[in-house]
Amino acid sequence: MPKNVSTFCSALLCGGTVSLAVLDTTALVNEGMKRQGLSFSDAELFGKTLTAATYLCGWLKTESEIFVSLHDGKGGRVGVSGDGELHMRGYLDRTENSAKVGNGVGKTEVGTLTVVRNDGVGLPFSGTCELVSDDVAENFSAYFLTSEQRPTAIGLCMKTEGEKCLVSGGVFLQPLPGAEEGLFGECKAGLSRIGDLAERLRTEGTDGILRILHAEKIGVREVKFQCRCSRERAASAILSLGKENALAAVRAEGTVTVTCPECKETYLFTEPDIQTLFGK
Ligand SMILES: [Zn+2]
Repeated sequence: MPKNVSTFCSALLCGGTVSLAVLDTTALVNEGMKRQGLSFSDAELFGKTLTAATYLCGWLKTESEIFVSLHDGKGGRVGVSGDGELHMRGYLDRTENSAKVGNGVGKTEVGTLTVVRNDGVGLPFSGTCELVSDDVAENFSAYFLTSEQRPTAIGLCMKTEGEKCLVSGGVFLQPLPGAEEGLFGECKAGLSRIGDLAERLRTEGTDGILRILHAEKIGVREVKFQCRCSRERAASAILSLGKENALAAVRAEGTVTVTCPECKETYLFTEPDIQTLFGK
């Protein structure tokens, strides 16, 4: 695949008993940072959460969706969503001291990580766990263990240079169901063999990491920044205001703009548009 494409590389190791995913999300995170106007200090939390959510999407059926929300306990929140086609988007709501996760200074309440999975049939599945650390990878590892009973060794990296994300990605090692108990220790040992993940990924790529872990590649999929918003969805936001409020707003401003929080796409509505919406 071309270099400016984000990738999700799947592999197996330990004789097919451990699943490995190596993600290079540099292009994805750059697109997200650009759309959200994120600065260097915010970018790490955003980028790492986006990468971990992409891994979660790798287990989904095409039509299923996932919503990940990480509250840092200080009023800051990262919201990321995606689907089984690995179309991802996300945003960061920040307060003055919320650029970092977890139990650090300025914390006012317990931070949480929530994952909601919607398979399109039945009720969505939802799991929440309290943040256990300032490290995004450790928090996702705790989520996998407590909410999904799947011990997972996770390494995440995110390095910026100026306004740009230089490299972003993740390594996820998970013993497959029925594997021996001691395998999780091997997964963690594999992670430490990689060393500086950002440097490895930048210089040797996902294949380099597979080589270090002696893993057998299964396939590579493309990851994209892509939103599900549309003019129809924006219109339903206007409808929820009620006719009187919507007309008052458009008369005051000339147009009403609905901005998608996840991709910052804007949808403009004029008074005749709004009349038509409510006339239907
Ligand atoms: Zn959008």
